Parts: sequence; C-alpha cells; structure tokens
Amino acid sequence: MTRLQHSQELSTLQSIFEGIDDAIFCHDLDMRITHWNPAAEQLFGYSHEEIIDESVYLLIPQDRQQEKMDIMRDIMEGRRIGHFKTIRRTREGVEIPVSITISPIRDQEGQVTGSSQIARSIIEENAAEEKQARLAAIVASSDDAIVGKSLQGIITSWNIGAEKMFGYTEQEAIGQHISLLIPPERLNEEDIIIGNIRAGKKVDHFQTIRRTKGGQQLHISLTVSPILNKAGEIIGASKIARNITAQKEAERSVAKSMERMEILNSISKSINEDLDLQHILQRVTDATTRLTGADFGAFFYNRVDQGGESYWLYTISGAPRAAFENFPMPRNTAVFHPTFSGEDVVRVDDITKDPRYGKNSPYFGMPKGHLPVVSYLAVPVITHSGVVIGGLFFGHKQAGIFKEEHEDLVVTVASQAAVAIDNSRLFEEVKDLSNKKDEFIALASHELKTPLTSMSGFLQILERTVPDGIAKSFAEKALKQLAKLNELVNDLFDISKIQAGKLQLNFEPFDLSDLLDEITDTFEQTHPHYNLKMAADGELLVSGDKMRLEQVLTNLLGNAVKYAPDAREVSMIAIRTGNEVRISVKDQGPGILPENQQHIFSQFYRVKEQERKTSGLGLGLYISKDIIDRHGGRIWVESTPGHGATFTFSLPAFTN
Ligand code: ADP
Repeated sequence: MTRLQHSQELSTLQSIFEGIDDAIFCHDLDMRITHWNPAAEQLFGYSHEEIIDESVYLLIPQDRQQEKMDIMRDIMEGRRIGHFKTIRRTREGVEIPVSITISPIRDQEGQVTGSSQIARSIIEENAAEEKQARLAAIVASSDDAIVGKSLQGIITSWNIGAEKMFGYTEQEAIGQHISLLIPPERLNEEDIIIGNIRAGKKVDHFQTIRRTKGGQQLHISLTVSPILNKAGEIIGASKIARNITAQKEAERSVAKSMERMEILNSISKSINEDLDLQHILQRVTDATTRLTGADFGAFFYNRVDQGGESYWLYTISGAPRAAFENFPMPRNTAVFHPTFSGEDVVRVDDITKDPRYGKNSPYFGMPKGHLPVVSYLAVPVITHSGVVIGGLFFGHKQAGIFKEEHEDLVVTVASQAAVAIDNSRLFEEVKDLSNKKDEFIALASHELKTPLTSMSGFLQILERTVPDGIAKSFAEKALKQLAKLNELVNDLFDISKIQAGKLQLNFEPFDLSDLLDEITDTFEQTHPHYNLKMAADGELLVSGDKMRLEQVLTNLLGNAVKYAPDAREVSMIAIRTGNEVRISVKDQGPGILPENQQHIFSQFYRVKEQERKTSGLGLGLYISKDIIDRHGGRIWVESTPGHGATFTFSLPAFTN
C-alpha cells in the first residue's frame, strides 16, 4: 500500500466514522478515550474536546463498573462482544439503555492496545417491548373475553377473560371452531360477521347470545375487528365479548316494574271510577292474577243481605267459574282463618306441606277436582274502618312462585280495592234509598188521588147548591186550594210514571197555533190583571201529545206569574225556523242566576231564595223537560238576573 493509498483509506474511514448514525468511540488500555465521533457526542452529550483523554468510566454508571471490567477481560483476550445491552450515562447524568458492540484494537504485532465501541440507544426499542408487554398483560387480565380467530373461524388466541366467561380453558379453545360458542339458531351470525371482517369492516357492539361450556346462554355485546399482517392483508379477526347478561336482566326488571306501575295505575284509576261492585271485583281479580303470575286468582267478598244472612260473592280469573261451583265457599279453617279474620297475609311456597293444611274435614286438603294449588297467596281486603270485607286468593301448581314483591303488589291493590268497594257500597245504599223514595212517591200519589177526586166532586156540588154568602165563598176557596193540591199530586204522579218509564205520550199531528189560542183564552180568564202578549209566525204544525205540551206551556206560564208577582206582563212567542218550531215564554221577574240555571231542570230542585216565598215541589221543569225530550226537542232558559227569564223549547216541525 502506498502512502497515498494509505492516507486515502484513512480519510474514507474518517468520513464513515463521522457520518455514521451509531455512536463510535475508542479508548486505550488506560481507559482514556481516544476517538469520539459526532454520533457519540449526540448520544452522550460530551463534545469531542471535552471527552478526549477522559476516562471511559465517565460514561458508565457506578453499579455497572464491574461489568466493564469483566468486558475488558474478554477484550484483552481478543474477544469481541456483540450487541450487549446495558446502561450508560450521559453528560447530564441521565441513564440510557444502549446496545453496544465492543471490539479489541490491536497494533501491528497483534497486541491489544485498546477497544472500540459502537453504541446505539435502545430507548425506543425498549418502549415498544414494554408497550407490547403491557398490552399482553391487559389482554390477559381483562374481564372481557378477547379471542383471536382466523378467517376460517378457527380460534387462535384465548385470554383468561374468555376462559372465565365461556368456561373453556386456553388448551380446550385454541384450534376449535368459533361455532363452539354460538347457539345453533344463531350460526348464520358468524357468516355475517366474517363477511364484514373480510370486507375490512369492524363489527361494533353487536348484542347477541352465546353459549358457555356448561350450556348456559349469555347476553353479550361483541366487537369484532380485522387483524392485519404487516403487508396490510386481513388474516383474521379479534373479538371482544362483554357479558351484558346482568345489564339485560336489569333492563328487563326495569321494564317489568314499569309494566307493573302501569297496571297498578290503570287499576286504581279504573276501580275508582267504577261504582259497580261486580266490575270492580273482576278488574281487581284479573289485574292481581296477572301481576302475581298465578294460575288462577279469586276474590271472595263477604256480604250480608237484607235478611242479615251472610253470603259470598266471588270473581275468578284464569279459571272457569265451573272450577269452583261444586265446592263450598272458603270457611273458617286453619288455612283461611288469617285471611277472613284480617289477621295477616298468608304466603306459602308449598301449601300441601304447610302444618295448617289438610286439618279440616271433610276434605283434609284440597277437595277432589279442585284446581291444583301448591304455591298459595291470600291477602285480606280490609276497609279503612277495619272491616274485613273479603280476601284475594291466588294459586299456582308449582312451588315457590309467589315472592315478597307479589305480596306487596296485592296488598297495595287490596287497599285500593277496599276504598273502591266502600264507595260502591255507599253508592248502592244511596241507590237503594232512591228506589225506596220512588216507590213511596208512586204509592203516595196514587193513594192521594182517590180521596182528592171525591173531595173535589163533593165541593163542586156544595159550591153549586149553597146560596150566595159566606158558606159559598168558603166552598170556592176550598175548591181553589184543592185545585192547587191536585196539581201537586198530579206532578208527583207524573214523576213516578217517568221514573217507572210509564209516562205515556199519544202523538198526533196538530197545529200549535190552536193550542196557543186556547191557552191564551184560559190565561186571560184566570189572570185578568196580566197582559199576555202573544206573537206567532209561520207554519206551526207539530206531531206531539197535545195534552202534555199544554202541560208544559201551562207550567211555564204558571212559573212566569208565580216567580214575577209584581210584573204585569208576560209574552209568548211562537216561530218556525227551518225544521223547528220554537216557543218562548218571557217574563219580567227577577230572573235566574247562572249557577242556578243549570239545576232548575232537575227533580226537586228549587232556588233557595224563592223557596220560602212560593209553594212548589221543584218538579214542573223536570217533567216539562222529560216531555220535550221525548218529543225529540230541547228546552232551555236564558236569563239576565234582574231582567226576567225566557224559557224556550223547540219541537221538530211536522211535515207530511
Ligand atoms: P217549582 O215551581 O215547583 O219550584 P219548577 O221545576 O217549575 O218547580 O221550577 C224549579 C225552580 O226554578 C223554581 O223553584 C224556581 O226557583 C225556578 N224558576 C222556574 N221558573 C222561573 C222563573 N220564570 N223565574 C225565576 N225562577 C224560576
């Protein structure tokens, strides 16, 4: 080698030495640094000037100095050490992981004179390894099942979470087809999932059901993602399954409680709106049977009839009535006693094993042919006043069906039912009383009519036969009072007929103008001091009961006089509008307050302020309304208090 060649080679080596990315430095046998390239400066922070001739131990942490001595022993013996991973220290004192390759430097005689070192930071490599280890630990310790599978569906990895969730060990699962976990009816799901994966699509939070080794069905949420190799090709799928069985159960139980709330609301609403006892009992029985999941439910309601005899009224749900018809009603036996005495709820998982069961003759248990009862629940129904009015009973052929929650639900419904039953009982009592009142009115008016008719006959003879004088005027007065009494009794008589549906109407077509003329004549004779203004317009043909319509008009005119004693004028207007005939009677009395207007057509209603001043039973307008209604017409009042009242009724016009 020429000198020139030698120097050229040296400069090539020098430029490699300076341009290389790895830190390269050398030291002699005194451990003094002799060479130091820019990459070494970069890695350790010492400049060339600073480090040359300094000890190499500057770069070695205290606890690694022995290691260096061991290395030097190998170097002295001419051995090279490759890719040795250790720790070195920078100028700032920061310890960094490095991979070092150390080689001996020899002189021309082959003697070792020092060592050269090529060092590379492995911080990033270490971080990657650490990250992988951490990920592996996460996968291993996750509660979620994390499973890898090939595109053919063969399981390739299986974490502890999967083992815990599905019951198969890693050895059992790896190599098996994923269908191991899929219920047969859901096998097609796998084709869809794999289809997505092949297309590079992720399947996110797919809720489905999978099967454990023990055959238990689990609700799971699945996320499946494609696994790619370095070339970006899809080589399999990773699947994360989360057990959502508990969540599903919670959702179901919330939905169930919502449903119960709704049922409870609707029963309480419907039973409180209903006054018919049989309806209430049936609704309560149906709803509670549904809520408890019983095979059948029954409500036995203890009643006392008018003769003081106690009897059972009952409703059944879930079983035909015939199933109970042949058995005696529940009696005061050991099983039933707590219910009918109102003592307590009885809830038993298996009544056939209960000590209270089967103690009483003649059945000693369930009568033959009775519906099978194993689970048993009975809740007394007690009113606010503490009266036990009956009990709700539920049965199921399996044991352990009725739980505390069912008991609570029935107790709630039972207390609502008690209120509703009480209301209905009051209502029935009122109804009974009202019927009695109707019966009394019918009887009394009938009984009064006979003596009245004969009294009126005798008085008329007397009035005609006695000479003028005091006796005659008494007879006349008595006849007037008798006419009033007759009117009252007639009203009562009509009322009882209306109530019995026996008020007969005889319809015939006639001209109302004729009737109005007759009424006007009579009114003028009987009320000489009143001015009755009559106006009629148009065709007034109607089909109706002339006598009853006369009764309506006489009543309205009578009221116009009775309730406006100081007025001297009454108007009557009859007009034809479209298909209707309308007749109004208008007075100049005190009128009627709006709050009274809506009541005056009810029976026995009289306005308080007028009650003392005028006689009457509060029946005239009620009867009038009934008559007009049955003619297919309407009757109403318009009044501004202080400015009189106008009563109007309409009738369909008669057209032939
Ligand atoms: P009665 O006249 O026997 O009380 P009605 O049924 O005919 O019964 O009338 C009911 C009530 O309506 C009366 O008590 C009275 O208070 C009120 N009323 C009826 N007509 C009039 C009227 N023209 N003006 C004021 N109040 C009236």
